[in-house]
Amino acid sequence: MNNNTFKEINESFTIKEAIDEAKRCLNCKNPSCKKGCPIENDIPGFIHQLSMGNMGDAMAIINEKSNLPAICGRVCPHEKQCQGHCVLYAKGKGIQIGKLERFIADFDTDMNLIRERLPQKTRGKVAVIGSGPAGLTVAGDLARQGFNVTIFEGQSEPGGVLMYGIPEYRLPKEVVNKEIKKIEALGVNFIMNCLVGQQITIDDMFDQGYDAIFIGTGTALPKSLDVPGGTLRGIIQSSYLLHMASIYSQNIVPRDMVPINEGEKVGIIGCGNVAMDAARTAVRMGAGSVTIIYHRTEADMPAIQSEYQEAVKEGVQFLWQTSTIEFLGNEEGKVRAIRATTPDGEKEFPFDRILLAIGSRPANRIVSTTTGIEVDDAGYVIVKDRPYGMTTRRGVFAGGDVVHRPHTVVLAMKAAKEVAAGIAQYVDAVKLLEA
Ligand code: SF4
Repeated sequence: MNNNTFKEINESFTIKEAIDEAKRCLNCKNPSCKKGCPIENDIPGFIHQLSMGNMGDAMAIINEKSNLPAICGRVCPHEKQCQGHCVLYAKGKGIQIGKLERFIADFDTDMNLIRERLPQKTRGKVAVIGSGPAGLTVAGDLARQGFNVTIFEGQSEPGGVLMYGIPEYRLPKEVVNKEIKKIEALGVNFIMNCLVGQQITIDDMFDQGYDAIFIGTGTALPKSLDVPGGTLRGIIQSSYLLHMASIYSQNIVPRDMVPINEGEKVGIIGCGNVAMDAARTAVRMGAGSVTIIYHRTEADMPAIQSEYQEAVKEGVQFLWQTSTIEFLGNEEGKVRAIRATTPDGEKEFPFDRILLAIGSRPANRIVSTTTGIEVDDAGYVIVKDRPYGMTTRRGVFAGGDVVHRPHTVVLAMKAAKEVAAGIAQYVDAVKLLEA
């Protein structure tokens, strides 16, 4: 087992392949692909520029809507969104939009093409808490509009779920780092290793002169399964495996810190994208067998189809309509099996390790260290429509998964873009009153 195990799977287009693919696009007058994109990227527009070899123009069009195209081009569920809506898709000849977006973004990064004219940062000072997709989007959008933005991140590297939650073979960390460098080049400041709620509070930030604060901290607390035996050794969170495998793939920790031993029989409870990522990571770490256990049917699973199919191809097995009712342990207190209800009655399934992937919820470190920010019963931050994304505390905004529950990267970005517009309106209005 070595780190090459995590090498990115999907090959990029060559220039010729990308231009040939772009030439197939019909440049539709009423493009259905654009309707399928949550952030309404001008897809025919950038593909048309690419078809003529105008990489910089293609990138400028993408930049109008997306701050993270190299990432979206890799991890978006294209078959459900743009690509799935392309008029040529029904004939089995849909344009490979995600791969084209990724090609342009990578080309731009490698050649350092774009020279944006950035405004002076005079419109106000904004703090962004969290550097995942929502935080980076708000920061990028506001910096482009003339705001002075500082991101506060609790980890030592920026990127949040992009850095620690999505495996290297789907999203190489180098790509994330390069995309973040581009956000930095817009004039965004980063303060790392700073846990808001511990080292600094929301009130401190206002004292330091920030006009508005954005909370984009996602859902950091994984949920546990409330059945007997839940505290046995060998039952761990999938997010922990993904984090450790991610830093192992970057040579930051040794192999034995990754909690999968070679040859182990691994069971994963849950069937969303995190479960697929954990399953495929366990395969790469040399698990003897990997089985996903899901209480509903194949048709109900929340995972993206393409991820499911890749998992099947890699040998991951599935137990459908199987609900875990107990974890069984050996004399040393380590998990050895699950007991579950199945369509054929109650059964025992032996496993050496169990990974939980049944969802996550927000941590309350920030809201519990300040006043006036209300959350709902599950801990999600309550926001208003006017100004869009403002919490129950004046000047504090929130967006992405911490408001809308766990979703895809692009949906977190879409929500964050709307909040960025709300923040801009709010700060402008406050400045006007102060003048
Ligand atoms: Fe091109 Fe397909 Fe979009 Fe039409 S729907 S503009 S063919 S990508």
